[in-house]
Amino acid sequence: LLRVEAATVRFGGRPVLDAVGLDVAEHEIVCVLGPSGSGKSTLLRAVAGLQSLDTGRVLLAGRDQAGVPAHKRGVGLMFQDHQLFPQRDVGGNVAFGLRMHGASKEQQGTRVEELLELVGLPGARARAVAALSGGEQQRVALARALAPRPRLLMLDEPLGQLDRALRERLVVELRQLFGELGTTVLAVTHDQGEAFALADRVVVMREGRIAQSGTPLEVWQYPADEFVARFLGFDN
Ligand code: ATP
Ligand code: MG
Repeated sequence: LLRVEAATVRFGGRPVLDAVGLDVAEHEIVCVLGPSGSGKSTLLRAVAGLQSLDTGRVLLAGRDQAGVPAHKRGVGLMFQDHQLFPQRDVGGNVAFGLRMHGASKEQQGTRVEELLELVGLPGARARAVAALSGGEQQRVALARALAPRPRLLMLDEPLGQLDRALRERLVVELRQLFGELGTTVLAVTHDQGEAFALADRVVVMREGRIAQSGTPLEVWQYPADEFVARFLGFDN
């Protein structure tokens, strides 16, 4: 479904993505791990069309996305800092992506209720975003990203602000949910436990490059190099 070919992004001459190649198959759940600053968010933004490449290509379903604007890529992105609209209520936030896709008011209402139930916030549509806990806000952001039924869902630290117990529960629920919806997922996380529980495949990034890509078991048992081994060790 997704192919990233030799993607390079430079900021001030420094490559933040350095010839990154990545394939994500339909229905696959891929988790990107790596230290802070290794380029994880930049990779997601590049696939979403929010960050242009200096060189390389992004293909979705075989189509080169050069020049295709973000809202036409059929890709959902949930940001690291979730960026909800504070002046809108929960329902308004979740419906945001639906309006852009031309759903009627009635379709929007039904779908919003459906999505809120899905993320464990049934009946929350009229609540003010500012009055929600960090974890609840993350779930609203997740519902918003899922709303237009993206062919590829990208999550940047989707559970970052939650406590461990809630995270562990949500990871299991998410994995089940993505399986049921058949969603293809590319997710960034700092938490390797989360990555190993959620992912079919784990990608470890280092300084703008992919240090290793493999099943969680492969990466765990056979780290490709010293860096990956240490990264996994330190995080434990
Ligand atoms: P974290 O785990 O902290 O979220 P990350 O792996 O997501 O880190 P990125 O956000 O992709 O890292 O950033 C990679 C590098 O690129 C960082 O050094 C960052 O400072 C730099 N960077 C990102 N965006 C910009 C920008 N718009 N202008 C200049 N530098 C940038
Ligand atoms: Mg980031």
